Amino acid sequence: MSALPPGSVIGILGGGQLGRMLAIAAARLGQQVHIYSDATGPAFDVASRHTVGSYEDTDAVAAWAREVDVVTYEFENVPLSAVAAAAAVNPVRPGARALEVAQDRLVEKQFVASLGLPVAPFAAIDSDADLTRALQEIGTPVLLKTRRLGYDGKGQVRIKTPARAATALDEIGRAPAIVEGFVTFEYEVSVILVRGLDGHTASYDIPLNTHVDGILATSTVPGPLPAAITKQAVEFAERVAVALEYVGVLAVELFFVGADANTPLVVNEIAPRVHNSGHWTLDACAVSQFENHIRAVSGWPIASTDRQVDAVMSNLIGSDINAWQSLAAESSACLHVYGKRDARPGRKMGHFTRISPKTQS
Ligand code: AMP
Repeated sequence: MSALPPGSVIGILGGGQLGRMLAIAAARLGQQVHIYSDATGPAFDVASRHTVGSYEDTDAVAAWAREVDVVTYEFENVPLSAVAAAAAVNPVRPGARALEVAQDRLVEKQFVASLGLPVAPFAAIDSDADLTRALQEIGTPVLLKTRRLGYDGKGQVRIKTPARAATALDEIGRAPAIVEGFVTFEYEVSVILVRGLDGHTASYDIPLNTHVDGILATSTVPGPLPAAITKQAVEFAERVAVALEYVGVLAVELFFVGADANTPLVVNEIAPRVHNSGHWTLDACAVSQFENHIRAVSGWPIASTDRQVDAVMSNLIGSDINAWQSLAAESSACLHVYGKRDARPGRKMGHFTRISPKTQS
């Protein structure tokens, strides 16, 4: 198991802000990055090289993969055919299995449940009859979610009463879907775990996450999760990582239902990549999630995930970015701007992390 030396080239499928922050972290370690993306993206400005091509063009993906030393991805909707084309040439870390599981909500729920981890009650929905049956079994409210291509709350409809079911399937374009029982939670948290090529794992402190309109708004550390439950959350993430023979950063989003509940933690979803709820690690830890991901996929030792300061990360969505000047003037706000030109509503344009002295270990 040899580590890729400085000067190696890490191929990243995807050119968004996660690719951008991975590229910056890679540069710090002397690694180069070659992005493959179907469109110009924020990662291009900071990557050594980029290639624009369709993810469906497996010949182009294979040709790109031949020019790099290892391949990773920065979003979970990369077609599996692209990963297979790259994997025929070079290692892909994390592997295709993690992607396969994370890009289909039904496969993901079945996989997580098969590990013995709690998930919301769920059912596959391919027809009106499936939906009627599921509503009888699970009751209301439920969430109807497309199996694929849903993120940040997109492709989801909340069904509060059985009468609502009639139009819900039309609203998601009758795409293959699942329903999920609605989890009444106290709050949401996420485990950001990194697993090295040698199987060593480490995880960051678990943030409290808040969402607005289905999009992450803030992540706060330290979070409120009780210590015993924190241990369980980390164990859940480790179980997922080991089962997927995972290499790199993995995020596991969890609902905290309550310390006295039968299942205090319910797994919402897994993300086989660096995660928005881990962006605070850039400013609150000596080694961020991005650097640890680059270390892991390069076969380097995982570095400390210790947190040095308290932190509140806030996303800058759409026109929020217009506040950049006042944020830049705040001495304890660490501002990150992704360099996207068009501040469309709902688009992640940047984030900032307010840091303060550490209050608890
Ligand atoms: P998702 O894209 O599936 O992570 O959903 C986005 C957000 O919707 C989550 O972070 C939760 O705030 C909420 N949500 C999703 N699924 C459920 C559920 N089964 N019960 C309650 N809230 C949910």
